[in-house]
Amino acid sequence: MKKNLLILMLLATTGSIFAQQQMKPEETEDWSKQPPIVNPGRPGQPPSDAIILYRGPQDAVNWVHENGTSIKWITDTSLTVTARSGGIKTVRSFGDCQLHIEWRSPSVVSGTGQGRGNSGVFLMGKYELQVLDSYNNETYYNGQAGSIYKQFIPLVNASRRPGEWQSYDVIFMAPRFNPEGQLLSPAYFTVFHNGVLIQNHVGLRGPTEYIGIPVYKAHEDKLPISLQDHGNPVSFRNIWIREL
Ligand code: MG
Repeated sequence: MKKNLLILMLLATTGSIFAQQQMKPEETEDWSKQPPIVNPGRPGQPPSDAIILYRGPQDAVNWVHENGTSIKWITDTSLTVTARSGGIKTVRSFGDCQLHIEWRSPSVVSGTGQGRGNSGVFLMGKYELQVLDSYNNETYYNGQAGSIYKQFIPLVNASRRPGEWQSYDVIFMAPRFNPEGQLLSPAYFTVFHNGVLIQNHVGLRGPTEYIGIPVYKAHEDKLPISLQDHGNPVSFRNIWIREL
């Protein structure tokens, strides 16, 4: 029995090797879809097919407050939270995307835990990638910088010192729902913090909630990205996005 199996395996292997030898190299070449050309730009610059969301005061028009009014945040070379003016969101809506965003918590450290340099990047206005000064600042781990708030602890803490610019590079996949509103696939995040992988294709349990267990509710394919006003003067700059 064992011997027969061995012979069969041997035949199968020699068979596939024989088939390999019969094939031409061209038979496994794929010419079906030429990748479009993208100029990656110089280091630190957005690629040529990116949509610019903020690079300077002229880009303030890309943002409004949650209630639709024009923004009261400080708009110069960076975008800085004006405490208690409310969160802001993009005018345009996005679903699956690659997002680059740089942020800086205040150099003058005040507060502890969640009160220190807190903001957030909300994909689709619902799924928060936490922004926090997590340099020598302990809080619950699924609430520190780079966490998917209260759902996923970052793989490592790649935080820079307060007052230094930091970057998030995000691959986000929007959740999918069927026409009846049932979840087909969850929202996924992959995130690099200062170039270091901190979230590796994590599937969310629902919107990121401050209190309670997350539950999905069907929503649009595309929604604005929002930035949180948590009362701390966190700054953002060089924000660009590529739709996927
Ligand atoms: Mg936050």
